[in-house]
Amino acid sequence: MPVYTSDALILRTYKLAEADRIVVFLTRDRGKKRGVAKGARRARSRFTGTLEALTCASVAYYEREHRDLVRINYVELHQSALAAVARGTRDAAALGHAEYFAELIDEWAPEGHADERLYRLGASVIDAIAAGAETSRLARYFEFWLLRLQGVYPQLTACPECGGAFDGGAVLPPREQHYLCRRCAPAGGTGVSIAGLRFLRSAAAASPDTLSDVQLDEGPSRELEIAHRRLIHAHLEKELKSARVLRQLR
Ligand SMILES: [Zn+2]
Repeated sequence: MPVYTSDALILRTYKLAEADRIVVFLTRDRGKKRGVAKGARRARSRFTGTLEALTCASVAYYEREHRDLVRINYVELHQSALAAVARGTRDAAALGHAEYFAELIDEWAPEGHADERLYRLGASVIDAIAAGAETSRLARYFEFWLLRLQGVYPQLTACPECGGAFDGGAVLPPREQHYLCRRCAPAGGTGVSIAGLRFLRSAAAASPDTLSDVQLDEGPSRELEIAHRRLIHAHLEKELKSARVLRQLR
């Protein structure tokens, strides 16, 4: 049985049999995997505290011939939102966002082939959560980059209809997945102000640990949240469970 050790992001787990868990994780070098963590639900398990959503860890696992499920040998924690909450550097609200980010990565990560940029985005966001980054700014950054890495974020350079600049802000028209300038946009739709666009342009060049220098007030953050939810919904053709939970919490 070949054994591998990879840096990985734990995305989610579910119960298996009496005491085990199935763990979905994105490895840095070999894509998304599903594995069995034997005894993970026992009170004194070697996996305790290492399998929370969006944990960054070193995962050792065996691949078995003709089996989709790998067997997880051990998980060595590097960083997680839960560990940051335990240390007192984060409040518990960060856990809801960690789950939201993990669910988005899970939806987008291809099975079985590596996507190192997606891995790096997830790992850098965990570090930012642990370092105390402001969550709504981090969430808008993460959504923007996730959609960008998939090549589906609408272009921000010029209005595709008239070629003009987005000098008065932009609008995501109803049922469309591109921004138009305010002159070309039909009635309705989701507006993004100049401040929102400025945030996106800064986010394109920023890393999560420099986000504290990038301004995003509550109004523009809210606009981007709605626009991003519509884009994600259109591409995944469903609403995420964790996104609904976050909304209800607010
Ligand atoms: Zn236009």
